[in-house]
Amino acid sequence: MRRLALTCTRGVATPSHRLDATLARHRLRVHLARPNVIDGRHQQRPSAMNPLFASLPTTIFEEMSQLARAHGAINLGQGFPDDPGPEDVRRKAAEAVVDGYNQYPSMMGIPELRRAIAEHYRHHQGLDIDADTECMVTSGATEALAASILGLVAPGDEVVLFEPAYDAYLPLVRQAGGIPRLVKLSPPDWRFDPAALAAVISPKTKLLVINNPLNPAGAVWPREDLEALAKAIEGTDAIVVSDEVWEHVIFDGRPHVTVLSVPGLRERSVKIGSAGKIFSLTGWKVGLVVAAPPILRVVAKAHQFLAFTTAPNLQTAVAYGLGKDDAYFVDMRARLQGQRDYFSAGLKAAGFTVLPSAGTYFVCVDLKPLGLSDDAAFCKRLVAEAKVAAIPVSAFYSGDAVRHVVRFCFAKNEATLDEAIARLVRAAPALAA
Ligand code: PMP
Ligand code: GLN
Repeated sequence: MRRLALTCTRGVATPSHRLDATLARHRLRVHLARPNVIDGRHQQRPSAMNPLFASLPTTIFEEMSQLARAHGAINLGQGFPDDPGPEDVRRKAAEAVVDGYNQYPSMMGIPELRRAIAEHYRHHQGLDIDADTECMVTSGATEALAASILGLVAPGDEVVLFEPAYDAYLPLVRQAGGIPRLVKLSPPDWRFDPAALAAVISPKTKLLVINNPLNPAGAVWPREDLEALAKAIEGTDAIVVSDEVWEHVIFDGRPHVTVLSVPGLRERSVKIGSAGKIFSLTGWKVGLVVAAPPILRVVAKAHQFLAFTTAPNLQTAVAYGLGKDDAYFVDMRARLQGQRDYFSAGLKAAGFTVLPSAGTYFVCVDLKPLGLSDDAAFCKRLVAEAKVAAIPVSAFYSGDAVRHVVRFCFAKNEATLDEAIARLVRAAPALAA
C-alpha cells in the first residue's frame, strides 16, 4: 500500500506497482469482509478495539438525557442552565466570528485570553500568574483533564482519586496506564479522612485529582482540607490536578479556595477552570488551565494532539467576559442560590430529605429515609413515571458506591422548577412505596 501511494504521488505506475495495487485492493476487500470491522453491517468485537473504551458505558449524563427525551421528561439530570448566558458575552462571540479572524489561534490560547485569565485570578484570587508561561486555553475542562492526565501520568504511576469522581477521571487515568488509588467520600459532608488519604499516598503517587466545589455532591472543601492534602503529599513528587470548574458557582458567601493559594501547592498543581460554568454557557467548551511552567509545558504537549486549539471567537468573548465587573459574578451566584433554595423547598414539600448544597448547579436528596437504597433504579422510575430526569450518584463510584443519593440540577427558571416540583409531589407517594 505504502509503495503504491508513493508511486502514485509521482504519477508513475509500473507493472509491479499495478500488481501491488491489485493485491492491496484484494486485501482491503478481505479486511472489510471480516466481522470485526465497524461498517454497520457486522457485529463489533470489543476485544478487537481498545477494551477500555469498548467496554465503557455511555456517560450517565448522556444516558439520562436520552431517557429524558424518550419520556418527554424535564431534564434535571445533565447540568446545564435554562439561562442563555450573558448577552454581552454572546454578542462578543457573534461579532468575533463575523468580524474577527477564524483561523487557527495559538495552541496555548490567544494572548488576549491568557492575559485575561492571569488578570481574572489576580483580581478574584490574589494570585500572581504569568500569562505567557503559566496559562493555557483548552477545548473545555474535559480536554484540560485529558491533557493533564495523559501528559503527566506514565504507566505504573499511582493516581489518587476521590469518589464520587467526575466521570472522565477514571477512564483517563486507566488509559494513561495509571493505577487508581481511591479515597471514598460520603454524605453529608463529603470530606476526606486524612488517615484514608495518607494510606494511599506512596513514593509511586504521581497525581492526585481533586474537584472543589465537588460535582455531584455540591460540597465545598474548606481551606483546612486543602492544607491537609498539601501535608499528605509533603516530601513526595506528586502533582495535584485541581478541577475547579465550579469556582464561581459557590453559595452563602463562601469564598472559593483555589489550590494555587495553598502553601506548598502553587508550584505542583494544575488548576482547571471552565468558561462554560463561569458564564452559564456549558456548550462553549472553553477550558482555562493554570500551572507552573515546567508542568504546563508537558500538559501542553498532550493538548497539542488532543484539540491543539479552541474556536477563536469563543476565546475572544471569554477574554472579554473574564473582565466583567464583580456585579456579574455576585448576581449570577445570587440567582443560582435563589434557584437552589426554591427547588430545595419544593423537594422537601414532596417529602424528600435534602442534603446541603454549597456550590455547583446541583442539590442531592437522600433516599434512605424513604427506605430506598438503589439510586439507579429510582432514577429510571423517576424519569418514566414522574417524567423528571435526575442522576444517580452511584454512577460516580467504581465500587463500594454510595447508592442512596440522587442529584438534581436546579439551574432552571421558575416555571421549569414549578412543573418539576409538581410532578415530584404527584409521583412521590408511589415512588417511595
Ligand atoms: N469537571 C467537572 C467537575 C464538571 O462538572 C464538568 C462539567 N460539568 C467538567 C469537568 C467539564 O467541563 P467542560 O464542559 O468545560 O468540559
Ligand atoms: N458536567 C455536566 C454534569 O455534571 C455534564 C457534562 C457532560 O454531559 N459531559 O452534569
